[in-house]
Amino acid sequence: MARYTDAVCKLCRREGMKLFLKGDRCFTKCPLEKKSYPPGQHGPTRRMRRKVSDYGRQLREKQKVRRIYGVYERQFRRYFRQAVQAKGMTGTALLQLLERRLDNVVYRMGLASSRAQARQLVTHGHILVNGHKVDIASYSVRPGDVITVKERSRKSPYFKDLAEDFGKKQTPPKWLSVDPAAMAATVIALPEREDIDITINEQLIVEYYSR
Ligand code: SF4
Repeated sequence: MARYTDAVCKLCRREGMKLFLKGDRCFTKCPLEKKSYPPGQHGPTRRMRRKVSDYGRQLREKQKVRRIYGVYERQFRRYFRQAVQAKGMTGTALLQLLERRLDNVVYRMGLASSRAQARQLVTHGHILVNGHKVDIASYSVRPGDVITVKERSRKSPYFKDLAEDFGKKQTPPKWLSVDPAAMAATVIALPEREDIDITINEQLIVEYYSR
């Protein structure tokens, strides 16, 4: 499957908003502050003046969410199909499914500064769920699951450095109970829409797939 290897900041410029794809860099040296227009060879003014259709707005909203969570189109469609079958609002169910991904949980609990880094920690086998290694980034957590770092990994320079600040920098969402001393988090509930701090109109995504 094709992997996106170009500069990720271009994705933020394309969407016209910060998607926080680069971890700490996003809070210090963000190029979006200087170049707040989409990338490409034509001048910024012409592209910014372009009229956006309903379809265009729906597409952009879908792309934003897909890029924030680092999910490919096929997988995103699968999440959407699952969300349609879930109880309640489809848009909220879709965001809930994405929030429950193990790489997102590792990011939310503060073990990584971006979802991309969190995904790497998971796929490299540093993360345990209920005491068992899970190296699948898309693994969907459930209430009661306990996420920890493998004992041997905690001795690595990365986790040793992290341990000093762990639990101080990031405020975890209320559906996760984080124990800084144990470098662990327990899923205490399913995430609600208000716990998901991304500025997105998920209804547009529902409309996009319902065309
Ligand atoms: Fe996006 Fe972060 Fe790059 Fe800013 S620094 S454009 S928020 S990825």
